[in-house]
Amino acid sequence: MKKINNYIDGNLCSYSNSTQPVYDPSTGEQTAEVILSNKKDFEKLLESSVKSFDNWSNFTPLKRSRIISKFKENIEKNLDELAKIISSEHGKTFEDSKGSVIRGLEVVEFASGIPHLLKGEFSENVGTNIDSWSVRQSLGITAGITPFNFPAMVPMWMFPISIACGNVFILKPSEKDPSCSIRLAELFSEAGLPDGVFNVINGDKEIVNLILNSKQISSVSFVGSTPVAKYIYEKSAANGKRVQALGGAKNHLVVMPDANINQAVDGIMGAAYGSAGERCMAVSVAVAVGDIADGLIEKIHDKALTLKVAPWTDKDSEMGPLISKEHKEKIEKYISIGEKEGARLILDGRNYKIQGYENGFFVGPTLFDNVTKEMTIYKEEIFGPVLSIIRAKNYEEALNLVNDHAFGNGTSIYTSDGEVSRHFTTKCKIGMVGINVPIPVPMAFHSFGGWKQSLFGDHSMHGMEGVHFFTKLKTVTSRWPKSIQSGPEFIMPTN
Ligand code: NAD
Repeated sequence: MKKINNYIDGNLCSYSNSTQPVYDPSTGEQTAEVILSNKKDFEKLLESSVKSFDNWSNFTPLKRSRIISKFKENIEKNLDELAKIISSEHGKTFEDSKGSVIRGLEVVEFASGIPHLLKGEFSENVGTNIDSWSVRQSLGITAGITPFNFPAMVPMWMFPISIACGNVFILKPSEKDPSCSIRLAELFSEAGLPDGVFNVINGDKEIVNLILNSKQISSVSFVGSTPVAKYIYEKSAANGKRVQALGGAKNHLVVMPDANINQAVDGIMGAAYGSAGERCMAVSVAVAVGDIADGLIEKIHDKALTLKVAPWTDKDSEMGPLISKEHKEKIEKYISIGEKEGARLILDGRNYKIQGYENGFFVGPTLFDNVTKEMTIYKEEIFGPVLSIIRAKNYEEALNLVNDHAFGNGTSIYTSDGEVSRHFTTKCKIGMVGINVPIPVPMAFHSFGGWKQSLFGDHSMHGMEGVHFFTKLKTVTSRWPKSIQSGPEFIMPTN
């Protein structure tokens, strides 16, 4: 059985004998086992990170940028291989895997501009003959803990910027699909990154807790479910670390009566069922405003029936399986709860079987109508191909639904009315907003992050937020001896 190791100091290695199975979700078969690292692995990791920091932080930003640019080329050359690794451990379609690597690559491109991004500010003569300037300096050892749903893109929201800023980075990827992180680390080494600057440690919550408790680690970046995000945030903050912890979501797409319904249906289809709904920006609630619900549902239903659900090896596949047997069962349980609580089940994805892949973790596209605010399937994140339609009498009711929900990651409105869309973007309590755009994921040079229970901490990921998160601000005030008047000064200088 293939063993997925750690990548520490440029070597594949591990001390621990403990492992966890890794599956191909399309077939349901175990394909590998991943190391669950122990304290000894962690000590080796820290030793490597501490040793590498001084050297790396002294590289000029331009030298760092050149290595990052080479890394970008390596990813481009190996794009198909990376996508194949992702699809075979995660299950999403091949083209979707490729797309996710490219979105991560955009952060690498952004990070290669680090000489410009790190430029400070300078003010001449802030007092007579006194100058002042600010610089951004690296934090030291930074760590990232990432979820299963984007095994390349989410780590790439973090480590390229951290490393560009002169930090060293420790990645603890999801134990469900860990191979891609190792390959990325190898490609970075091949680009000339010194050993130990980017280490990958595999494991579960034992390693996470060692990271959170380590005095030598300066910052923690987390993406995953809300209960874990909250825990990471609280524990890291209590230990004096800088922390950004992104959590779960329940994204609403509001369809106004004046929207182009066909465009809205196309938007909803991709956003609800793409990647089997395992995206933190997936649309899990469509809010039908006014009297459009029946027509909207009919069109979604008809399209969902033609959706090609298949393994990633089928090039026509539009939706693959879920990540694990447990996750499939969890989603099927949510569908049963929805039915029991009185939602109208229009399309039922339970017990979905594909010939030749009977043991795969597939759930078919699922559609509920008449969902209400009180229902479990509305309140909780399902993270699968389950779309709830909720009917709102008017725009105000729709906006209140969006704002009253505990999560605040993304939302979207389909309308042709500029006044309404402007009101919506101004008043909604959500971090990322789309106008006639179903999944408004910001580009690398903007920043990604939600509000409310979807983000704990003050900084979003990538863009300038990323640069600020991974650096400390220092402001210097300077004068030269000839301009210093003799004698001590006891009052606050004011000129
Ligand atoms: P998860 O929270 O189960 O795991 C995320 C990471 O935390 C993994 O590396 C895991 O090993 C670790 N972990 C899990 N339980 C832990 C514990 N008790 N203590 C310490 N560490 C623990 O999330 P997941 O199932 O891998 O990913 C899906 C979730 O991620 C969804 O909720 C989704 O919305 C969220 N997500 C959010 C964003 C965002 O940007 N807000 C992006 C992608 C995914």
